[in-house]
Amino acid sequence: MNDPGKRRRKCLGGAVLLLGLFAGVVSAGTTPQPGDPAALLALADSIKTSDHDGFTNLLKQLNQTTAGLSNEQQWYLRYLNAWETGYVGDIEKAKPELRDVIDGAPDIDFRMRATATLINLLGIEHRYQEAFGLLDQAMDNLPNITHKDARFQVLAESSQLLIQAGQYDLASTYADQIIADYPQGRNGCIGKFLKVHAEFLRGTTPVDEAQSQNAIDTCDKVGEGIPADSIRRDMASFAMQQGKINDAIALLVNRYPHVVSYQYLDLTSEYDALLAQAYWKTNDIRRAEKYALDTADIAVKSNFTQPLSVAYQLLFQIEQQKGDMRDALAYHEKYMEVDKSHLDDTREKALAYQIVRQQVEAKKIQLETLNKQNQILQLQQALDLKQVETSRLYIALLLTILASIAFWLYRLKRSQLRFMRLARRDGLTGIFNRQHFVDEAEQSLRYAAKSLRGACLILIDMDHFKQINDTHGHIVGDHVLKQAVATCQRYLHSCDVFGRLGGEEFGILLPECTPSKALDRAEEIRQAINATPDGDSVPLVISASFGIASTEHHSYDLRRLLVAADDALYRAKRHGRNRVVMNIGDSVPAAHGSSQDRKDSTDDGGQCTDPAA
Ligand code: GH3
Ligand code: MG
Ligand code: MG
Repeated sequence: MNDPGKRRRKCLGGAVLLLGLFAGVVSAGTTPQPGDPAALLALADSIKTSDHDGFTNLLKQLNQTTAGLSNEQQWYLRYLNAWETGYVGDIEKAKPELRDVIDGAPDIDFRMRATATLINLLGIEHRYQEAFGLLDQAMDNLPNITHKDARFQVLAESSQLLIQAGQYDLASTYADQIIADYPQGRNGCIGKFLKVHAEFLRGTTPVDEAQSQNAIDTCDKVGEGIPADSIRRDMASFAMQQGKINDAIALLVNRYPHVVSYQYLDLTSEYDALLAQAYWKTNDIRRAEKYALDTADIAVKSNFTQPLSVAYQLLFQIEQQKGDMRDALAYHEKYMEVDKSHLDDTREKALAYQIVRQQVEAKKIQLETLNKQNQILQLQQALDLKQVETSRLYIALLLTILASIAFWLYRLKRSQLRFMRLARRDGLTGIFNRQHFVDEAEQSLRYAAKSLRGACLILIDMDHFKQINDTHGHIVGDHVLKQAVATCQRYLHSCDVFGRLGGEEFGILLPECTPSKALDRAEEIRQAINATPDGDSVPLVISASFGIASTEHHSYDLRRLLVAADDALYRAKRHGRNRVVMNIGDSVPAAHGSSQDRKDSTDDGGQCTDPAA
């Protein structure tokens, strides 16, 4: 995992795209004469990405004649040199070069452009806290920027980074500012792409087709294929969420040759992953497998964790359906590993954003304190002059200030704790998210193994949930999910670990629990979920399927327990849903190598609760 070669490849891939996209296009005017450095610099700037060879030639030419450049032009050249160093992937060298420009250039526009480029490189390096720190400074300076392109660069970088940190509202506002500056053209295309992407990820409103199409048209007009097809990716993704699988496939297949032609692997692997998911949903297993393998092939080389995790999860499900438990287990282990690193990265970005916000807040309080101290000193002088009861007033004031500082620190600490809590919780239901569930369950299992106590894992998946969404809409779907969680919580003990593992799938780890007790408890929850909710405006009959695995049969390794419980869940679905199945077989097929060796409670009849029975 720590192969430096791999890391470098990742850096280069990201650097090429992002610097390329957000470079800002400076209008060069007419063809410059060799002796006109101002025009040469502007020309070089304008062709940085569109004619990169031409750009490096001009840069060489300019670097040979630095003596003839004015002070401002020298800083311009230094900025372009630093940009080039970052663009070719030498981030370590580019960073100090950019910092020189940020600290030294007299012109705010160059300082801001260097800041935007540095933010980009820090993002590629996963140094999010530094990136957000710089972003904050850049935003303070935004009103002072005079050059529209520098403003664009700062806004585009900020919007991009905020999207990565899950701050979609702010990202969308910055994209609006870009669109106001540039309704059309290349920068307008980027602004509209960021807007549509932020809105799609925010997910609170359905994707606006007219807005998306307008963004695509803007990009098509200036020949910007990558952002245009990134918007189409979001549209396809949204169509899939709506259950319009064939629409999604048509859109993706139609654009696929274009996407491949950009040789921008990030987007290719996302198209592959979406196609794999779409074909899996239409039961075209052969194509699903092909695209999942293609995704994995690209994504594993370039370390694109999101599509890779989708691919491994699908390959796991495909092998499971084929009955090849050995390969299924291998893919599941890979899936868990990649999914964890993807979630870690996402959480890291979100936390970095919050930490920087906290630091900014803390700085404001410090300034406030200094101001107050100043006021006291002034007051004290005035009081001295008037010869009144200086000390009493002074002490009273000081106490008030100390109290207010303590209050602010308390608030700061409290909000820090709140952010830490939020990073562990699922936004919709408020229970542990997948990452935190895994952490807590692993800890609980370690304790159980040490004390030689048994534990059980229950996986719950809502039945025909897509139908609920399709029939009653997503809002009702969300409500049903929250209600199912509340029902589960009524039956949980304080030491149970409960989390949302994905869309409509939940996990419960029961420490100090025997298989038969787990079966009873799962059955109790199943019946409660299945009872029609009272007093609801839309009377729905909801059900869920349950898969159980126990340490008694499957070791204390969470990954093995998850695979075994998932296998049982799969059987519960296959046997008609709304039931509990326990996997009591040897779920480590590596030992025997055949899925026939594995028994489950449906087969032996003794460990399965079936409402229809
Ligand atoms: P099965 O009984 O086989 O599990 O069928 P299913 O329809 O539940 O299975 P599938 O996995 O195909 O569909 C799950 C659906 O859950 C698809 C997705 O749109 C929906 N879903 C996932 N997350 C959410 C969410 O947060 N809110 C809502 N409303 N729906 C969600
Ligand atoms: Mg389901
Ligand atoms: Mg599901």
